[in-house]
Amino acid sequence: MDKNGILIILSGPSGSGKDTVLNELIKDRDDVRVSVSMTTRQKRDDEIDGIHYYFVDREYFEKKIADNKMLEFAEYAKNYYGTPKEPVDEMLSNGKAVILKIEVQGAEKIRMLYPDVISIFLMPPSMRVLEERLRSRNTEDEETINHRLVIAREEMKKAPDYDFVVVNDTIESAVEGIKTIISSERLKVKRNKKFISEVINNV
Ligand code: 5GP
Repeated sequence: MDKNGILIILSGPSGSGKDTVLNELIKDRDDVRVSVSMTTRQKRDDEIDGIHYYFVDREYFEKKIADNKMLEFAEYAKNYYGTPKEPVDEMLSNGKAVILKIEVQGAEKIRMLYPDVISIFLMPPSMRVLEERLRSRNTEDEETINHRLVIAREEMKKAPDYDFVVVNDTIESAVEGIKTIISSERLKVKRNKKFISEVINNV
């Protein structure tokens, strides 16, 4: 992991609004990139290959694992999801803050590999609001919604393992919260030692 860039995990249950918040965040931040994951799940109608995910079959995914090309991967709802290593390394070496939008198992793996990673958990303001958001999508039946709520509760139990919790009360406040985390990380002394010594030594 290149020390210039910042590796960030963003997790949160289905319906917590990760995509909406990240789309808003990257609009005016050229220093922030969102990693494009690889998955074996079916592409949804509104998704574009190479933008939302790289959609591949299991054989291709397993070859990438065997070739050590994945930073992490997990099985979630019977499909593989994983982060291709090379683009992340490249963005980090270019000084970018790279956000991995991953679920809790992947987050645990990344934390073990990269103790310096910053992890953020996006929480809905309440279970009731999460339920309303899932229902308002109008895409799932009652059973699926209830199943997602059960998974969401399990995922939220992992929130205390994260460094930061951002509440998605409004999109603006959630975006602001993540921007503040990135900005304060960039100001940390350990990231600015070279600059400090240059000033002292009149470089
Ligand atoms: P969905 O199918 O709704 O797009 O994603 C399901 C879950 O997989 C979400 O929690 C999402 O954050 C997570 N996910 C997406 N990409 C990755 C990845 O590369 N690695 C891991 N571990 N989880 C991912």
